[in-house]
Amino acid sequence: MASSDDSARTSRAVGIDLGTTLSSVAQINDAGEPTVIANAEGELRTPSVIYFADETVLVGRDAVREAMGNPARAAFNIKRSMGDADFRFTVDGESYTPESLSALILRKITQDAAQQIGPIRKAVITVPAYFDDARRKATEDAGGIAGLDVIDIINEPTAAALAYGFSGKGDDGVFLVYDLGGGTFDVTVIEKRGNELITLATDGDVQLGGKDWDERLVEELARRFREEFKADPRDDRAALAYLTLTAEEAKKGLSRRKSTRVPVSYRGHWGNYEVTRDEFESLTADLLAMTQLTTEMVLEEAGVTWAGVNRVVPTGGSTRMPAVLAMLERMSGKPIEIPIPVDDAVAMGASIHAAILELHSQDRLVEFTADTAARLGRIHTTDVASHALGLVIKDHQTLAYRNDVLIKKNSRLPASVTKTYQTAHDGQTSIVVRVVQGDAPDPEACITLDAFSITGLPEGRPAGALVKVTFSYDTKGRVHVTAEDVSAAKTMTVEINRTKGMDPSRITAEMTRLSLKSVE
Ligand code: AMP
Repeated sequence: MASSDDSARTSRAVGIDLGTTLSSVAQINDAGEPTVIANAEGELRTPSVIYFADETVLVGRDAVREAMGNPARAAFNIKRSMGDADFRFTVDGESYTPESLSALILRKITQDAAQQIGPIRKAVITVPAYFDDARRKATEDAGGIAGLDVIDIINEPTAAALAYGFSGKGDDGVFLVYDLGGGTFDVTVIEKRGNELITLATDGDVQLGGKDWDERLVEELARRFREEFKADPRDDRAALAYLTLTAEEAKKGLSRRKSTRVPVSYRGHWGNYEVTRDEFESLTADLLAMTQLTTEMVLEEAGVTWAGVNRVVPTGGSTRMPAVLAMLERMSGKPIEIPIPVDDAVAMGASIHAAILELHSQDRLVEFTADTAARLGRIHTTDVASHALGLVIKDHQTLAYRNDVLIKKNSRLPASVTKTYQTAHDGQTSIVVRVVQGDAPDPEACITLDAFSITGLPEGRPAGALVKVTFSYDTKGRVHVTAEDVSAAKTMTVEINRTKGMDPSRITAEMTRLSLKSVE
């Protein structure tokens, strides 16, 4: 908790785009405009790369440079591992979860921003719409470890649509947000009606992004180098890290020019290869086609045809590739306009959402001008569930386990469903429910959540006691389970047996451990 002195200086809530490759912080400024805050290096976006130096932890541009010389001490693409319970990055005998690594990035960007706007306490962090419960929880926990009060988690496309809507550049109608970042891809259809933003459907791929385009170029350059020198730079970690960075730069160059030359050096050999935009586009055509397929599918789920889409909103750095815009123009039959920089829209939208929450909160730290308050106060967003929520049940006929979908994918949030169960045995005092995310009938093809145990039924009751269980998604897309003992009209305890996320004591312990490190 901040002291009253601190509160006087604490800045208003910020919005954070915690990206696979780049992260940024934005805030509504005194004039009521969302503004991206520069880091200590003067850049609006900080590379989401961590380098463990001897004394300090480097995050950002310096980490990228150091990582080239010693990639084993660097952590990249952490967002791709969010929610993975088994992932650990180990350096100097210390191991870090994806939550802790993300917390180090959050520490760097908020501490830098604080130099300009004052201490930061409250934040909204964005996530790809397609993040499941474990990934959402991991993101919230990362914020907790970084010492932030995460007042909400919102979907990146919703944030982008908010930035458009708030800027007055988004007229009413249906928006299709095509978000291709460094490591994730989402498509979301959002309807703007006055000040209401309603998400109609969303889908995506958490393992598809600009990195995949880089990899294709790395493969091609390595192939040409091998042909010429019979040596493969991918065999050496440092050479591969360097080649990957060069490939990314070349890719960006090809967004501006029709061809580029790429130098590749390894084991004293020097190669120099020309790559044309056409060649690059044919190397990556299948990746683009995958995004096209998802886009068509999401439109269908939203019940909208291209004729019904009023505006296509590209967000994420990878939409700078001309092939992406050409595909979107071809598919939609409309010219694409980009009034807000593609990599700022998400952080800006998150800062608008943060300000809206702060405006409605009791412990508001900083006042808004009447005009800003009026503009913010009118906006309302409604999101949808990116995954179906189901329960694993045993089919009486086949005796096989199957997923009984309780809340359909793309249901409006918050959403909840109540089911009544009977205890199966005399004296049964607890029930274990297995909850999954996904549409597939086979539970093994879905994402299993942590196990929920409902405990505390009175002892000595015969079989057949009624228990009402409510499964819900909150507005953040997080899953909750509550239960009621019907005959005693008493709320029961639901224990979550965590196999995936961190519990509060671990978050506090991690916060203490990391607070001893200096982050630059
Ligand atoms: P984001 O996750 O939204 O920050 O997007 C970062 C991704 O955008 C990375 O894969 C970058 O390589 C990619 N990117 C940034 N600028 C360009 C560009 N000019 N052309 C192609 N890709 C780009």
